[in-house]
Amino acid sequence: MEDGAMFVRGNSVGPAFIKTPIPAALENGMLGAIAGMHSLGRIGAGTQVAPLVRFLLSGQSSFATGSCHLVGVGCTARERLGSGPSRRARLDRRAALQRRARAMARVLITSALPYINGIKHLGNLVGSQLPADLYARFMRQRGHEVLFLCATDEHGTPAELAAAKAGQDVAEYCAAMHAVQAELARGFGLSFDHFGRSSSPQNHRLTQHLAGRLAENGYIEEVSERQVYSRADGRFLPDRYIEGTCPNCGYERARGDQCENCTKQLEPTDLIEPRSAISGSTDLEVRETKHLYLRQSRLRGELEAWIDSREGWPVLTTSIAKKWLTDGEGLQDRGITRDLDWGIPVRRGTEPWPGMEGKVFYVWFDAPIEYIACAAEWAEANGLSDEAWERWWRTDKGADDVHYVQFMGKDNVPFHTLSFPATLIGSGEPWKRVDYIKSFNYLNYDGGQFSTSQGRGVFMDQALEILPSDYWRWWLLSHAPESSDSEFTWENFQASVNKDLADVLGNFVSRVTKFCRSKFGEAVPEGGGFGPSEAALAEALGARLATYEAHMEAMEVRKAAAELRAIWVTGNEYLQSAAPWAEFKEDPARAAAIIRLALNLARLYAVISRPFIPDASAAMLSALRDSEAAWPESLPEALEALGPGHAFEVPEVLFAKITDEAREGWEARFSGRRG
Ligand SMILES: [Zn+2]
Repeated sequence: MEDGAMFVRGNSVGPAFIKTPIPAALENGMLGAIAGMHSLGRIGAGTQVAPLVRFLLSGQSSFATGSCHLVGVGCTARERLGSGPSRRARLDRRAALQRRARAMARVLITSALPYINGIKHLGNLVGSQLPADLYARFMRQRGHEVLFLCATDEHGTPAELAAAKAGQDVAEYCAAMHAVQAELARGFGLSFDHFGRSSSPQNHRLTQHLAGRLAENGYIEEVSERQVYSRADGRFLPDRYIEGTCPNCGYERARGDQCENCTKQLEPTDLIEPRSAISGSTDLEVRETKHLYLRQSRLRGELEAWIDSREGWPVLTTSIAKKWLTDGEGLQDRGITRDLDWGIPVRRGTEPWPGMEGKVFYVWFDAPIEYIACAAEWAEANGLSDEAWERWWRTDKGADDVHYVQFMGKDNVPFHTLSFPATLIGSGEPWKRVDYIKSFNYLNYDGGQFSTSQGRGVFMDQALEILPSDYWRWWLLSHAPESSDSEFTWENFQASVNKDLADVLGNFVSRVTKFCRSKFGEAVPEGGGFGPSEAALAEALGARLATYEAHMEAMEVRKAAAELRAIWVTGNEYLQSAAPWAEFKEDPARAAAIIRLALNLARLYAVISRPFIPDASAAMLSALRDSEAAWPESLPEALEALGPGHAFEVPEVLFAKITDEAREGWEARFSGRRG
């Protein structure tokens, strides 16, 4: 019985085997191979043990982790495995084809753009960038070609106000804040292929180009409006730059768009004694001025048809879009220009736009265009040609087979399902449009809301000051606000970190490596055989891994985290019941086999946990002296990746527990406003 695997190929060893008690299987004539699993392994050399494991493990369908596919495509594990040589050959061929198909799949991923006016809080992070990173990492590990883009959203009034508050020129302010946000993104392990800026030259050119195309195609209307002009400031004032007394309640600091005191919506001309919020000047007058409107109402039919053609969109996404399309008078035209200094100057393609001098595009018009421009920035930053980014974005240049996924908070859904697609459709050019939108609800903080303006909650820089990013990544992703809002509390955070990361995963790796070092030395031990407990472990792992992969592919973040945690637990339970420390006294070879499997389990954990906790994963792989983090093609092979004699070292503590004292300290520190 040199080759256990051959035995499997020649017989119908299907899923039934595992459900059949071993003695019954023996009676069925599967004799030596199974009966010998234990004894043969004991006397055999390590090289003979490996095929036995393969035999044991490959005999069941739930085991193949199988090939990767995008949501909704692919085959079941059952189809992938079978018996009989010809079937096996067919399957090998099929696996090769699937591998090739997988290598060809291309996934474009964008995260909603974080606004430039300050450091983001953890609620912002988990509402878009972090789950997008989880998906990008998983897709890369599966062998797909991924382009993962994000950028800072830099235009608009709040950026100007924040710069003024910081006493800086707005361009300098944005450059500095971009650098800060990029550094924090690196700190959290966000694996963007490029982190761009909506103020980039590429976005200027593309935004002006698209506006020009929209105008040529009749989707831009020039509308004359009467607007407040400040002679002292030498500019038109946006509504919120005008202050005065509310005609409704008498509040003296009402803004031109709304009275904060009585919440009445206002027009700037309603205000009593209006003044400029910039200079305080009352030397204001109403002047005639022109603005550009995107005629979205004319694109309603095309937008609706496009939305109806999207397959597998969540009901929430579709219903939000449909509501905007059909409620009241239907989709409204949108003003896409503003009277600001900071922004993308209004031009018609490369030409001046008469009557629009001194105006810029509205931030909501240019920000989503940055998704595309960011790819152009990425190409330039990497010394690549235009073809390199266009094959991701132009369906006439190769983007037709790109699968494009957007991540965002739910409040951003209308812009991404209507306004941005309207821009792309109206251009008449073959731009890639989104295939799937993953949107999130809100994360709350300790009984209230995270708030940037109020400085409430934990912000990205503060989080990294107190703990490594993996602690945060794990908690945030495993509590992602998917189907409803979720809440951060320090107690819950402490409990999750201590239980999931320290007690379950960290402890498993520590126990296995330390036990091995003390009994067998710092190398994977050889010898020993496997029995029913390994078969049970293998079956459980196979099923769970398949479920985990399915959740990851479907971007079901919380469910994926729960399944990953269950996979970690499975290993602990196996170790507890196999009890190598007890076996070692009676049967050291059996203990060696258990530990060999457990070391391989630790490696498997490092590989499949990587999208959630990349730093800990790297530390585990480094301790196990393995750099291979590709997703397992098959579980049986993955459980033999580290063969007898493979050297390793005991890793440093992977996750330190959070003490009550530390938790209470942070609770107090973060209870008020950010200083
Ligand atoms: Zn009022």
